[in-house]
Amino acid sequence: MKGCRKNDIRRIVLGGLLAMVVIVLAFAGRTVLFKNNLPAALTQAVALAPPDAGQLQPQPGFTSASGLSMNLNHSQAAAKTTAKTAFRAEAGVKNGAAVSKAPVKPPLPAQTRQKTVYLTFDDGPSKITPKVLNILRQQGVKATFFVLGEQAEQRPELINAIWEQGHAIGNHTYNHNYHDLYSGFTEFWSQIKQTEEIVRNITGVRPQLVRAPGGTYGHFDKTYFQLLEQAGYSVMDWTVDSGDSKRKGVPAADILQESVSDLTASRVILLLHDGGGHEQSAKALPDIIKRYKAAGYAFGVLDGEVPPVQFRVSASAAGAGHAQPSKAWIAANIIPNRELFAPGKALALEIGMQEIRLLPGEYRISEGQYKVPLRAAIERLGGKVSWDVSSRKGRVVWNGRTILADAANKQLTVTDADGRQRVHSADVQIIGSSLWVSLRGLLEAVGHPPLTAAVTAEERRVTTL
Ligand SMILES: [Zn+2]
Repeated sequence: MKGCRKNDIRRIVLGGLLAMVVIVLAFAGRTVLFKNNLPAALTQAVALAPPDAGQLQPQPGFTSASGLSMNLNHSQAAAKTTAKTAFRAEAGVKNGAAVSKAPVKPPLPAQTRQKTVYLTFDDGPSKITPKVLNILRQQGVKATFFVLGEQAEQRPELINAIWEQGHAIGNHTYNHNYHDLYSGFTEFWSQIKQTEEIVRNITGVRPQLVRAPGGTYGHFDKTYFQLLEQAGYSVMDWTVDSGDSKRKGVPAADILQESVSDLTASRVILLLHDGGGHEQSAKALPDIIKRYKAAGYAFGVLDGEVPPVQFRVSASAAGAGHAQPSKAWIAANIIPNRELFAPGKALALEIGMQEIRLLPGEYRISEGQYKVPLRAAIERLGGKVSWDVSSRKGRVVWNGRTILADAANKQLTVTDADGRQRVHSADVQIIGSSLWVSLRGLLEAVGHPPLTAAVTAEERRVTTL
């Protein structure tokens, strides 16, 4: 008996000490309890070797078409697109900068710290989304929408509305299919990239926030967490589940009750849904907002500056034997991806008398080569790009030339003003629903093969013939 009591006391003392440690860690600003502690090496910004200038040198024997007059008149539409994209890309960069170089802020004293709730809506956009947006507008609060690529493709106008109204957009994969997504990391990755391109095509900005369908618990192993972080993403679970997806048709009263179950937490990340069939969530929303307002909460939108909340790796997920990506795959896909969100440098291109700029996130570096989105590059040069549905080729008209960009055969077919035709092999790719091309291939096709590639502290710059 005595021994037992002694053990009990020891357990209580140890428990007390553990609780103190937990409290201290929790106040250290990060949700350490749920956060996977990543090796320090993986949380550092990944240094990217500057692309080899040699790879951008013009091939010997290639004669450029000189003396062509430059089209200096950007079309109005192109200028508008550029301005819009530029503005938004800056916003994206700001978030990116915050993630890779988190500013060290002294923690605020507990009594002055503003309680904040982050409303998050998953699985949309759907026909429920306009209702949710109306309520948010009426109540004057912002939220974060973790959208599905499949839905975004069908309702791009709603993605635009979410963005225009100042809410944040996160990535919730393309099809939400657990079987696909949790069979191995590369499938999850391809859905993240696919959705990212769909959103980027609509808003001009890549979502950096990722929420795993069903949450990470029971789904993510260490590899999922590590590679997504290494690639520059911020994985976000939640702290409060509204319970609106427990089963079909959970009544609004129940959703409200679950949503406001703890109004003392300094930070609440509330899981709600705006996918099809979630009318009751929209119905509960005005009261949810009113209750948080009454409890003194501010409403925040998630971004790279908000420390992520992440569930721990479950034993079942750790032991699921997910297929692991190879080192070569990681080097080709994960490492360069971080550059998209890095505080990065703009890429300046000198082409004839023109200079165009692609902001960080608007171009990629892979296998030591610059890859650029065909539409953004050509439109900034004052040209036009259209998509030929029947041949599945991009059609560029610039400076008296027509160029067909063929992703299937990885080539650019150039027809000059006088009808002469040439074929260049080039790394043409369809990413999401947009065409990307290697910069070298594009410059050669437009008759301005690259001369030099330089990287300074401020920018990357490519000059051409
Ligand atoms: Zn979901």
